[in-house]
Amino acid sequence: MEKTIAAISTANGVGGIGVIRISGENALAVAEKVFCSVNNKKIEEMKGYTAAYGRVTDDGEVIDEAVALVFRAPHSYTGEDVVELSCHGGLYVTKRVLRAVLKNGAVPAEAGEFTKRAFLNGKLGLTEAEAVMDIISARGSQSARAALSCREGKLRKRIDKVRDTLVNAAAHLSAWADYPEEDIPEVSTEQLSRTIEHCKEELRELLNSYDAGRIMREGVDTVIAGRPNVGKSTIMNLLSGCERSIVTNIPGTTRDIIEETVMLGDIPLRLSDTAGIHATDDPVELIGVERAKNRLLQAGLVLAVFDSSRPLSEDDKALIDLLTDAPALAVINKTDLPTKLDATYIQQHIKHIVMLSAIAGEGAEELERQVAEIIGTSGLDASQGILATERQRSAAEAALHSLSEAAEAIRLGVTLDAVTVTIEEAIDHLLELTGERVTETVVSQVFSHFCVGK
Ligand code: GDP
Repeated sequence: MEKTIAAISTANGVGGIGVIRISGENALAVAEKVFCSVNNKKIEEMKGYTAAYGRVTDDGEVIDEAVALVFRAPHSYTGEDVVELSCHGGLYVTKRVLRAVLKNGAVPAEAGEFTKRAFLNGKLGLTEAEAVMDIISARGSQSARAALSCREGKLRKRIDKVRDTLVNAAAHLSAWADYPEEDIPEVSTEQLSRTIEHCKEELRELLNSYDAGRIMREGVDTVIAGRPNVGKSTIMNLLSGCERSIVTNIPGTTRDIIEETVMLGDIPLRLSDTAGIHATDDPVELIGVERAKNRLLQAGLVLAVFDSSRPLSEDDKALIDLLTDAPALAVINKTDLPTKLDATYIQQHIKHIVMLSAIAGEGAEELERQVAEIIGTSGLDASQGILATERQRSAAEAALHSLSEAAEAIRLGVTLDAVTVTIEEAIDHLLELTGERVTETVVSQVFSHFCVGK
């Protein structure tokens, strides 16, 4: 018998309400021992989806008022009997209630154990379970939408469709090979190739969505570069909506790399305001310049800033030359001042350009649009269900690899037996992706990333 588990499910902090969740065969009995309803309702006699108001006690001492919410198996998050005790959200109170629950027969839940039980009880698939964690950690509406659509099974349905197609193909191949005397229609290799190609295409599309989805979740490593005084700090402040880095009109004052995450629309930018790239003899500045150059080469996005009120300088050109092949957006700033900049050199070397007045905030929307285009999040339809974890990505990649082998085998005219084997391999990888055929180790690994109480 699975043990009855309990944990504080709300955040570890002070809040209006704190929830202690108990799940397992003895959940109702455990709750009964610590909870006393005001009108003598017995928890063990309560129906699912009903609540009672009362007090939580520990050895006769009243700890807090609480509402007990009863769920009966299988109609609960975990699929087991569940009681949720909602008490006041104090750090001390919630811990005291949990302690009372543990004293009366529950054991502490491990990280993600509620969701793990939900998975093992068939309440949700592995990709849906993984999405639960993404919903909790989502920082923007796109990543929340993506996680929610996975939670609702969109990703699994996309994978299932590919898998069903492959299962049909493999079944036809096996039947044809195993029962030659039956009237099974001959396998057309052309048809088979088309089917495989179609499945490969779908998997490729899913794999492409992985990178964009990851940027939505984790953010993009962004560098703001440009010579002193072009307005880097002002842009950073505009994006973050607060006075973060020191803005002065003395060139070269931003020496250190300051890091901070801001939301540009739906995309978290992990910004670093770097020292300007320019020739200098000052040893302190030199270190800053070298560091900035290194950062440029590794960044996921470079905002290269130029001053529209001054002619293009040698330092500007040096920066532009560093950006060949970089995911860069040229930001021509101070458009509110009379134009003295000839942008031809910039246009010749950097594809994406935006005109901005950081002081007036004009051009900020266009900046957002172009950034999304550069980092590939603009074409992402978050509601379609996308690959969200490295585990999912590598399983999809492995399935694609098997299908490529199958296609190659057909092309080389290898026996259809060999083709069947590779198709079956691809099916195995997809079953692993959705969690239908998955090892205990993988399951433990998935849930170890969760927080306790989820
Ligand atoms: P940084 O050295 O590149 O970080 O440049 P700062 O952000 O410190 O800006 C240098 C000066 O340019 C400050 O006096 C800013 O107020 C000014 N500045 C920045 N952006 C604009 C802009 O869009 N228009 C105008 N007119 N001035 C700006």
